[in-house]
Amino acid sequence: MADPATLDETCKAEMTLWAFCRACGHASLFDPQFLRGKVKDGDERLSAVAAQFKCSRCSRADVRLIPTPRTMVSFEKMGTARP
Ligand SMILES: [Zn+2]
Repeated sequence: MADPATLDETCKAEMTLWAFCRACGHASLFDPQFLRGKVKDGDERLSAVAAQFKCSRCSRADVRLIPTPRTMVSFEKMGTARP
């Protein structure tokens, strides 16, 4: 199966998301269901969704979302670039 391309597909595939900041290298894991509640359209591509968020460490909006299998980690909250 191909990697999920949207939040809805990531939820359906029961995967989680690495949010990786290209500016400072900060990486966090996020629950796609949590992010789904933050955006208007779950069918938007992950790259478009990532553009709506900013890094919680350096506040730059240069974030990539990378689908990955679920692991035993706790999720943290992510700041939004748009209020
Ligand atoms: Zn950063």
